[in-house]
Amino acid sequence: MSTFKAANPTRRSFLKWSGIAGGAATLAAASTPTRGVLIPAANADGTPSADKTVWNACTVNCGSRCPLRLQVKDGVVVRILPDNSGDDSDFGNHNIRACVRGRSIREKIYSPHRLKKPLKRKAGTKRGDGEYEEISWNQAFDEIADAMRHTIDTYGNEALYANNGTGTTGGNMLHRRLVWRFFDAAGGCLQPLRNYSNAAAIVAGTYQYGGAYTSNSTVDAQNSKLQVMFGLNQAETRMSGGGELYNILQIKKKYGVKTIVIDPRYSETALTIGDEWIALRPGTDAALVAGLVHVMVAEGLHDQDFLDTHCVGFDDDHLPDGAPSGSSYRAYLEGDGPDGIEKTPEWAAEITGVPADRIRQLAREIATAKPCAITAGWGLQR
Ligand code: SF4
Repeated sequence: MSTFKAANPTRRSFLKWSGIAGGAATLAAASTPTRGVLIPAANADGTPSADKTVWNACTVNCGSRCPLRLQVKDGVVVRILPDNSGDDSDFGNHNIRACVRGRSIREKIYSPHRLKKPLKRKAGTKRGDGEYEEISWNQAFDEIADAMRHTIDTYGNEALYANNGTGTTGGNMLHRRLVWRFFDAAGGCLQPLRNYSNAAAIVAGTYQYGGAYTSNSTVDAQNSKLQVMFGLNQAETRMSGGGELYNILQIKKKYGVKTIVIDPRYSETALTIGDEWIALRPGTDAALVAGLVHVMVAEGLHDQDFLDTHCVGFDDDHLPDGAPSGSSYRAYLEGDGPDGIEKTPEWAAEITGVPADRIRQLAREIATAKPCAITAGWGLQR
């Protein structure tokens, strides 16, 4: 593997703004009839007529929660419009434009596959057979109440489990906390620990950063001289005017901060805002970081005062109570830890595939940028 300089500005420029330009196209698409939906007669200009426009939101759990304006005719949503508030010339107060998924949300609202009545597995069939029959709401309530009562009486409330469901965040009628509250009203239940997206990062981030997240916010880059992204790919995972893709594009456009993207893939993020892409073997980020910090320490580029006053465990003089000598990060880097291996750039190069000289140079760039924004995707902890 090797480093790569992004060298096709024309294509990059095109893709950089395609998400925004695509907004007009998707808006037009949203005004056309979708399967199974009765669309009222159109206005003279071809748009569906509507009685009113109401605010709503897209809560498909992509990470954003884009506002939507729903045009309604006779109780039917006939058209989806994006946010029209804010001021695009004022970053931070800009329109939050929904992406195509939000703008086509009528397909979800009126999908013939939505469950509208309780279904129960047919008698005599087993799980996985996929055979169900409709039952009344009263029967459903009675059967669920009986099952809850049996479970609580037999095993206790801790045998009730309320699953996570961050896709319901932002929902008024369907928020997962309503289910938890319902179970709590019945005496309590077992709930998930943290979440399925970044539970490990929440734990690790608490130790690494003193907070719940793994790195700088992407908007910190506007105050930085250099931005280094580890496995962070908002261009494919955080789209729309409300997503981080918009943030990173605007910050790059407005402030021009140099951006290095570290990722096994030449991602859309590397393509759109990366000044440089550093490819490494999947899952070897920690080795790369060890090689980087080894250089910083060897060349005296680290901030020893900060480490001495704000951190625990960097060197053997600042270990937590009870930790054995040789268990600090510096001991690990310098080969004085249990594995006895010095984490030189050459060592890291063997593991990561990133050339040792590039590791040295990157370490110097990060350490001397002052400040450097370092951001990490959640994939590293998954
Ligand atoms: S980015 Fe798209 S999918 Fe995500 S909340 Fe906004 S409209 Fe919905």
